[in-house]
Formats: sequence, structure tokens, C-alpha cells
Amino acid sequence: MGLKDFLGVPRLERAKRVLCVQPHPDDNEIGAGGTIAWLAGLGIEVVYLTVTDGCIGTQDATIAPERLAEIRRGEAERSARHLGVSELVWLGYHDGDVPEERELAATIMGVIRTVKPDAVLVPDPWLPYEAHRDHRLTGLATASACILSGFPHAKSEPQAPPHAVPTVGFYCTTRPNTWINVDGTWGKKMEAIKMHATQFAEGWTMISMYLDMKARELAKGRGFARAEALKVVPTILLHFNVDTEGY
Ligand SMILES: [Zn+2]
Repeated sequence: MGLKDFLGVPRLERAKRVLCVQPHPDDNEIGAGGTIAWLAGLGIEVVYLTVTDGCIGTQDATIAPERLAEIRRGEAERSARHLGVSELVWLGYHDGDVPEERELAATIMGVIRTVKPDAVLVPDPWLPYEAHRDHRLTGLATASACILSGFPHAKSEPQAPPHAVPTVGFYCTTRPNTWINVDGTWGKKMEAIKMHATQFAEGWTMISMYLDMKARELAKGRGFARAEALKVVPTILLHFNVDTEGY
């Protein structure tokens, strides 16, 4: 008998409100767009928290970063609404320039205490070979905010009454324990990703083929065609626990 038998893997569809934290304006759609559309379709309230403005996400030197950030905000709003997201919160840090973990965690905790989610999704910061600082820090700061948010003396920015988050789900992970059937929402996910035209207008065929291939690979042997894979854990396992890696 293992820890999993006592606690079980939390089921995202039991949440009432899910906060999806993304480093850049398109990460939620790419990593978990099918899951997000599925949750929203079940009547679960989904809120986005976007950490940076995505202002360096172009190879075109003629677009000013401020202008790109503005365009990307519009793309992200439309894309999120398409998946059924009800609200978007923006921290507005410049792309590639998120603050250190402690400061970022306090700010994310401020949002958690306002939105009061019972599950939080975020890219897995323990993804091996993740070279992007924004992704590592957003994942770490979010996990850190989740473990402390329920403690009234833990400092958030702004300071707010405590709110405990029982469940955290990491997407883009190499240690999944949850495979979501996204057959019914795959079309919506792909449309939502395509709405980020500044990012995916070029090379769309390759990108969509890769995402489709990956989703099919993840679903293999599970009785459905396409899956998104997440590592979903009770928040209490995100501190001082040797079983979390294999959970
Ligand atoms: Zn990103």
C-alpha cells in the first residue's frame, strides 16, 4: 500500500474553480488547451493568470516589443475565451524578465487569494532540460505560492486573507499521472492556438502535426485517440515528501 492509496490522485473535474498560470500568453493553450476546454465545458470556472506580456516573442525586428505585447494580449484574450475561460489576470512583467521566485510567489499568492481556486495548473518547473527562466520560475513560484497560501501569516502581494489550494496540476511534464481524454475538445484547442497568429502563423502545418502526433502517443492504449498528460498532486505533497516524484 502506497501513499497514492491513502490520498489518491486528485481529479480536476471535481474542482469548482481552476486557476491556470502561464509564463507567456500562449502556454496554457499549448500545454493544456484541451483540458481547459473540457473543464470549462463541464461548467467549471476557469481563470487565467499570465505572468509576462510576451513582448520578445518574435523574430521580426521591425515590431516594437510594446506593440507586440499589445497584439499578444488581444490574441490571448480571444484564445482563452474560445476555450471557455471566464477571466484573465495579467501580471504584466516583461517577457524574459520575471522577478526572482520569492517576489513572484508573493504576487501569485495575492492572485490565488483573490480568485480562490481549488485547483491550480502550471507548467512543470521540474521538466528536465527546461532552459527558459520564465517557465522554471513561474512553475516554482506557483508551487511555492500554493503550499503557503492557506497560512494567514504567509505574505502575499497584496496581503489578503488565506486561501488553501488543495490541488496542483503540472502540464508539459515528463512524470504524468493523469491522462485527459481531449478527443471532444481537440478542435477547439487547435483553433485557440492558431489565434496566437504572431506565434504560429508561420510553420502551422508542422506545429499542428507535432501536437497531434504527441497527443496520439499520449493516448495510446487508453481507449481514446488524443490525450493531454498532467501530473496532478495534492498540494501537501509539494513539500518535504520523497513519494511526490513517483506519485
Ligand atoms: Zn512560454
